[in-house]
Amino acid sequence: MESRPFVLKHMLPISRVERYWKGLEEGKIYGTRCQSCGASFYPPQADCSFCYSGDMDWVEIDGEGVVECFTRIQRPPQGFEFASGGYVIVVAAFGSFKVMGWFKGEGLPEVGMKVKAETGKDELGVWKVYLTPL
Ligand SMILES: [Zn+2]
Repeated sequence: MESRPFVLKHMLPISRVERYWKGLEEGKIYGTRCQSCGASFYPPQADCSFCYSGDMDWVEIDGEGVVECFTRIQRPPQGFEFASGGYVIVVAAFGSFKVMGWFKGEGLPEVGMKVKAETGKDELGVWKVYLTPL
């Protein structure tokens, strides 16, 4: 079947969560925690979606995470052609933060597996979070 690419570009305002993007370049991963109700957010949110407070703390997420779930992408979507062999996306719990990242290990992860989170650029030079088995 013939096809042609259909490219969509979005302009997303990031000024209130810019620290997250700067952190990735410094090897740090940040979430936010609401000072009013204590809710944790990853990716970070500038405003709490539970109590609507804008009083948020930045929290560096590090240490040991535990894999909660994962999925293997067999056919990468547009923009991820560099991963034509497929890739695995993991969600791991780092305390109250649920971090999603690209799995950087052999084969498939297992639920309960311990991982560490790191940052790095992908083949297109875009900063990402990678979860590596410990
Ligand atoms: Zn809140």
